[in-house]
Amino acid sequence: MQTLLIILFNAVLTSTILCLAERLNHNIPLGIKRSFCFRCQHQLSWYDLIPVISAILLHGHCRHCQFKFGMHYAHIELLGAIIGWSLFSDITVWITAVLLFFLSCEDIYSHTIHIGVLYPWLIYLFMTSHFNQFEDKITVFCLVIPVCLCLVYRHKLGFGDIPILLCFILINDSLIFAYTLLIATILGLTGLLFVNQARLPFVPYLLAGWLIANLGEKAITYFVK
Ligand SMILES: [Zn+2]
Repeated sequence: MQTLLIILFNAVLTSTILCLAERLNHNIPLGIKRSFCFRCQHQLSWYDLIPVISAILLHGHCRHCQFKFGMHYAHIELLGAIIGWSLFSDITVWITAVLLFFLSCEDIYSHTIHIGVLYPWLIYLFMTSHFNQFEDKITVFCLVIPVCLCLVYRHKLGFGDIPILLCFILINDSLIFAYTLLIATILGLTGLLFVNQARLPFVPYLLAGWLIANLGEKAITYFVK
């Protein structure tokens, strides 16, 4: 029962973040009214807003104007529910994942992010990070700062990506951090092959790399035990 509630909570949260990022992208005030169809402006009923299920029942279409909003919402909500549930036992990782998911949506929609939402969390991580890993973190700082400066100077990485990298450093050890960068870079380069865009939104790739590294570590720990 507890597992079901956690999965449900994560599905609702994923749906809410998607809605929040979409409203910000369309310059729609957050408190204006309940969810509505962007095409016909009809207000959506509660049964049109059930994560995953509503999109499946409506075949990815608006009930009123039949506008096709697609099944990707259902897929993301389902993925968010499962990943959120699997991370829920580590609340620090979970909160970071939620914040980065919001920033990823923004980056995909508009190539700009409200990185300020991450600063209070970053301060908290600085204050609570374990001192026994301090030397480890200094080493990674020494590695990552010159790399970041070079990347920013060459305009290959946005300033918003740096606080995200700092979050990873403060949460994980250097091995997970290295895997995160490696996986994110491979995914990003693969993305460049298929997406014809001059500038790639890198936050989703960083998030994906970090999630794969963390979930991979959890899986290895689970199976080795
Ligand atoms: Zn509609």
